[in-house]
Amino acid sequence: MRDDNCIFCKIAAGEIPSNTIYEDELFKVILDLSPAAKGHALIIPKEHYANLFEIDEEVAGKAVQVAKKVAERMQEVLHIDGLNLMQNNGRAAGQTVFHFHMHVIPRYAGAANADMLRYNPLELSEQEMQELKEELKFGLFNTAEQ
Ligand code: AMP
Ligand code: ZN
Repeated sequence: MRDDNCIFCKIAAGEIPSNTIYEDELFKVILDLSPAAKGHALIIPKEHYANLFEIDEEVAGKAVQVAKKVAERMQEVLHIDGLNLMQNNGRAAGQTVFHFHMHVIPRYAGAANADMLRYNPLELSEQEMQELKEELKFGLFNTAEQ
């Protein structure tokens, strides 16, 4: 499936040029045009899925396998000190291209922009934490802790 108005579908099909660093049957990995750090790459499935909610579960799993390969390559070739995987879903989460993709962002100690993924933590009460846990929990084994 593809979306004719989607820039990443066009990149995946080779209709728009990109700096491709890896390709297999299912994915293309390209350098981000506005990188957070040297080597910032995007793992793009060739099929169009808007986000994590729409992507085929197996393709999502394989995207993580590709992320590991790309991360190891970056570790080998670039002198990286750390690495973030980031994957945005929906405008509220900062997604700007609505074709699933995973960011692989190498990190370098002391880089001026190295803390850009930080946030200010909320202070939730114990009651709020308990309510959230009760609402969200699923698939747990039956132990005393829960
Ligand atoms: P997101 O905010 O997760 O949707 O990320 C979209 C990313 O795609 C941004 O980091 C952009 O810099 C990047 N981007 C958009 N268009 C292109 C393009 N033609 N080639 C490479 N990267 C792109
Ligand atoms: Zn697309």
